[in-house]
Amino acid sequence: MPKTITLLGSTGSIGTQSLDVARMHGYRIFGLAANSRVEILQKQIEEFHPEYVAVVDPAACEKLDAALAGTANAPKLLKGPEGLRTLAAMDGPDVVLNAVVGIAGLPASLAAIESGHDLALANKESLVTGGHLVTDAVKKYGVKLLPVDSEHSAIFQCLQGAGGNQPVRLLLTASGGPFRTWTREQMQNATRAQALKHPNWSMGAKITIDSASMFNKALEIIEAHWLFDMPPEKIQVVVHPQSIVHSAVEFADGAVLAQLGVPDMRVPIAYAMTYPRRIPTGSKPLDLFSIGTLTFEPGDPVRFPALRLAGECLNAGGAACTILNGANEMAVAAFLRDEIPFGAISRIVEGTLEACGAMPADTLEDIFHADLEARRVAKETAEKLK
Ligand code: NAD
Ligand code: MG
Repeated sequence: MPKTITLLGSTGSIGTQSLDVARMHGYRIFGLAANSRVEILQKQIEEFHPEYVAVVDPAACEKLDAALAGTANAPKLLKGPEGLRTLAAMDGPDVVLNAVVGIAGLPASLAAIESGHDLALANKESLVTGGHLVTDAVKKYGVKLLPVDSEHSAIFQCLQGAGGNQPVRLLLTASGGPFRTWTREQMQNATRAQALKHPNWSMGAKITIDSASMFNKALEIIEAHWLFDMPPEKIQVVVHPQSIVHSAVEFADGAVLAQLGVPDMRVPIAYAMTYPRRIPTGSKPLDLFSIGTLTFEPGDPVRFPALRLAGECLNAGGAACTILNGANEMAVAAFLRDEIPFGAISRIVEGTLEACGAMPADTLEDIFHADLEARRVAKETAEKLK
């Protein structure tokens, strides 16, 4: 049966790869949403004929409205963050795929779940900032939460064969990013171009910088905690530069199950779209002979403080993970504008966590309040470093 999908964040790296999978299998697109890239959205509308399109940036929404004027069968437009939430909640799709970047994805994830949709989740920030709200809602509304992040998809795939046995440990793999072998001193003044050069994956700018600082892995430890109900001390980061083993799970008897494949996000995207069915994705077959060697090394929390901060924030509870995420988003944006050195990213995050202290995260309002406060403090700290 062809699937019907609502795709949030359609103009991004995950969004466009999701449309590659949809195109390959003739899936219907009910709704598309993006922040602002009108030209790409327009092309996507021409090809996939969605019924609704949400554009978060109001000026971009007006531009798209003007561009579509007079077009036959133009989709209905929804504007702003409210439009994104409305689209996420609409009946029509079999699955809502959330590939928005940042905390902006959280209200949409909740809206999709609360209206009874299965949620394919690439937006890890939904779980990092609102993990308890998302997992509680998934239980309450009885929907499926299908991870798109490659490591979490790998763990999810391994658990399919687990017969209900709970793993005793998760082995979360990481490529190590472009600075895997750099010293802390070398990393301090790494340039934007160096940080954007990921060895194995082609991704959006934010997550690429996060891979270089290993804040991506920090966010993924938090994501894994919520998805698989694991305490941080049972989530081991395994640096694996070839990115062939996408993660593994260990059971009480010592057995370890891993999921392997060439690095290609279309595989976890398709699995989340069509779970539990597997479909062709266009991914190259894995040729173990040409790879020859798979290597593994421990993550280094001294050179990459993010790896230590994830566990500390999870153990602190409250809004600590939201503060980590907000401060990091701010610091990465400042780094991408060449305003701060690479080494300042983790210092800004750590300084912001200290300055903000304990904050509650009981409601969506609490979470957005903590996020705004984290951004304010992180911005102040970044200004001082300019
Ligand atoms: P990207 O920057 O390429 O795309 C982000 C998308 O989100 C765009 O469509 C953009 O229009 C939309 N967007 C941005 N701000 C928005 C807002 N305020 N409201 C609504 N939409 C907004 O990012 P990406 O690399 O595709 O990553 C998307 C998500 O998937 C992130 O959470 C990332 O951590 C996760 N992820 C990405 C990859 C990857 O390979 N790219 C892998 C694993 C997980
Ligand atoms: Mg990942």
